[in-house]
Amino acid sequence: MNRQSLHALSGLLACVMVLASSCLRSPDKEKYLLMVPRYTFSLPEEIVPYTPGITKAVPGVLYSVATSVPGDVVYLAGNLPIIITVPHGGSATPADIPDRSEDCDEYITTANDVQTIALACDIVEGLMNLTHGKYPHVVINNLCRTRIDQNRNWGEDCNPVDGRGGDAWIDFHEVMTGAVAIGAVLGRFGAGLLVDLHGKPNSGEPDYSLYWESVMIGYNLTSTVLSYSDEVINDQGNGYAERSSLRFLSAREAHTIDLAGLLRGGMRGHESFGALLQNGLDEINRDYGKDYTVVPSDLVPAPAYLYLSGEYNIKAFCGVKDGSIDNLYAYTPSRFISGFQLEVCREIRDSDPALRKDFAREVAQALRLYIARHYHLLL
Ligand SMILES: [Zn+2]
Repeated sequence: MNRQSLHALSGLLACVMVLASSCLRSPDKEKYLLMVPRYTFSLPEEIVPYTPGITKAVPGVLYSVATSVPGDVVYLAGNLPIIITVPHGGSATPADIPDRSEDCDEYITTANDVQTIALACDIVEGLMNLTHGKYPHVVINNLCRTRIDQNRNWGEDCNPVDGRGGDAWIDFHEVMTGAVAIGAVLGRFGAGLLVDLHGKPNSGEPDYSLYWESVMIGYNLTSTVLSYSDEVINDQGNGYAERSSLRFLSAREAHTIDLAGLLRGGMRGHESFGALLQNGLDEINRDYGKDYTVVPSDLVPAPAYLYLSGEYNIKAFCGVKDGSIDNLYAYTPSRFISGFQLEVCREIRDSDPALRKDFAREVAQALRLYIARHYHLLL
């Protein structure tokens, strides 16, 4: 065998060894390779004016409605069938929007959900790294909750009805989320998933010890309903599917999955978002020495104590039929949107940026599996 032949043979052997090593790659190594982030994401600094009916949104670009004050409500255009709304993350307190808590006789909450905008950005990054750079649609309210509650109806709980605050409400709900984001998702995919992102107190804090589970998923069904057996929840005569924010999915998937499965079914068929996310939290718990839990899930089927079941946004955009909001049918296209309110405890959001990012990556992975399982789309 001459030197050229030997060289060719050694090259061939090297190729075979590389191929063999890639075939025999251990699951841990595979996971490690998958975890190397190819994309990083933070909100673009430039905000581009958006004119409804005229602007053609480009994925990854940040928009603000041209007719209102720039930046009060911003929209990250996407190309995935996922819409993330962040109603309580803002901190701006402009003087030309009255303080809701003054002159308001009703009991209202004005506490912001700190770091939910950062968490949303981390979820965007997680999804980009799972989908070769695709974006969810994200609608962010930048105004403080003392000025406006973007998870309450127009005028409800002393929400502004005119001026700059009224414009911001319309931009968040009717323009960016209702017409633009949902319109884009339905136009491309015919159906979509809404994640209304929030922050809840830590379990065990003195004033909040009853908010037990670390992550709460709200489907517009009360803790009492969730305490019922699967049989009662699935009884169509009780109407829980129609009252839930999974109304559309429940109707479409009824031939294979019942409502209790969608709410808290286990990993075997990837039925519930809670089970998918708890599976991710198990990894976080191992890595960080925590015991975070998600409700409802196969691990915690019903809340132990106080529970946040969801408010205006999931009712309005997921077409729930419970008669509690008067402009439900303003969002007619939303009957093809399902979703949930996602409440994340403060420790996960606000104690360690690495923990928040790792959690966000698990949320992104759970969203991808959920979309594959229930929307039959491989992202
Ligand atoms: Zn909130």
